[in-house]
Amino acid sequence: MNFSHSYVIEHHPFMSPSQTVRPLHSLTLGDLEESLSVMGQPSYRAKQVMEWAYGREKRVYSWEAMSNLPAGLRSSLEEIHPIRLPEVVTVSGSKDTTRKLLLRLRDGELIETVLIPASPALYGEESDRRTLCVSSQVGCAYGCRFCASGLDGWKRHLTADEIVAQVLLAEKISGERINNLVFMGMGEPMANYSNWLQAVSILNAPWGVGLGARKMTVSTSGLVPRIRDLADQHLQIRLAISLHGASDEVRSRIMPVNKKHPVAELMEACAYYCDRKKQMITFEYILIEGINDSPSEARLLADRSRGLHAKINLIPYNTVEGLPWKRPSEEAQETFLSILRDRGIAATIRREKGHDIDAACGQLRRRVAASSPSGTLPPENDVAPSSLLG
Ligand code: SF4
Repeated sequence: MNFSHSYVIEHHPFMSPSQTVRPLHSLTLGDLEESLSVMGQPSYRAKQVMEWAYGREKRVYSWEAMSNLPAGLRSSLEEIHPIRLPEVVTVSGSKDTTRKLLLRLRDGELIETVLIPASPALYGEESDRRTLCVSSQVGCAYGCRFCASGLDGWKRHLTADEIVAQVLLAEKISGERINNLVFMGMGEPMANYSNWLQAVSILNAPWGVGLGARKMTVSTSGLVPRIRDLADQHLQIRLAISLHGASDEVRSRIMPVNKKHPVAELMEACAYYCDRKKQMITFEYILIEGINDSPSEARLLADRSRGLHAKINLIPYNTVEGLPWKRPSEEAQETFLSILRDRGIAATIRREKGHDIDAACGQLRRRVAASSPSGTLPPENDVAPSSLLG
């Protein structure tokens, strides 16, 4: 489902009645050139606009600020390609400087974006890398049993501009350049494939945000046909599989998607991806006590990974309000890890940053929405974003 507006604007000096409204940040350079040409404008205007929209030196967030465009053209473009960044409702920070942005979309829905420093500033120096964890849908239809995002079901896909805007807002608020993107926030990106891919094109393009595809990782619960589609794209984007179980028995118990795309089928699609991209892939594996942390599951996971040139991120389970699962003991975590390593598999235990601000996808949104009697946010922000910055 695409939520771009599609109504026609009439009676404006530069516009054709056939043009439809599409937010600026959902357009590629080619889309904008096409739109401008319908308006009788030269193509260099599109480059001027993108420089204002994404350039590092002079990034602006309104048509009015694009001062080298004629005023009449600016007002026409504002009508047909509006700039609609989500509202920043709260910015929560944690001790290790992970920050979570709660954003309100134009229809009132809430999403989360999490800014994670790769190496915390332990000695007061700046972190060398900024990773942003981006959402792709409001809610999620896939219902993985351990995940907060699926608890309230799926509401809608994000549009391409809503995905791009998460990066723009994180950079605006932090005052820093994001140099690593992970599509691991709320939602299943591969279920919103066309909007997500359009956003990736904009984020990757030299006229856009300019983030290298190798600096982007998409995580999927295992939508096999889309993994194959992405393998056939020229983008060298990295792939992470939310695996969380090596046998069908364990995986189907916690990930309903496994009934549609069982592990063997998923592994074949992963092999296809690795082969086409000549890339290593990552298996994300949340360790849950008594569910998927047995030695036999570790041995099977090692067997599955060996032929695939895959590395494994083990993530001790992050408690979710309203769910019964528990994090295994450190000893059980280490045992699982050593079974993998003894079999020559590249594996690490990733201690989650931001554990103290509900950084697992969907948790903050649920908590804030639940605290309002109507199930939506109250009009007043409980944390003023600016008070947490600097
Ligand atoms: S883990 Fe991902 S795919 Fe599964 S319910 Fe959560 S957001 Fe959806």
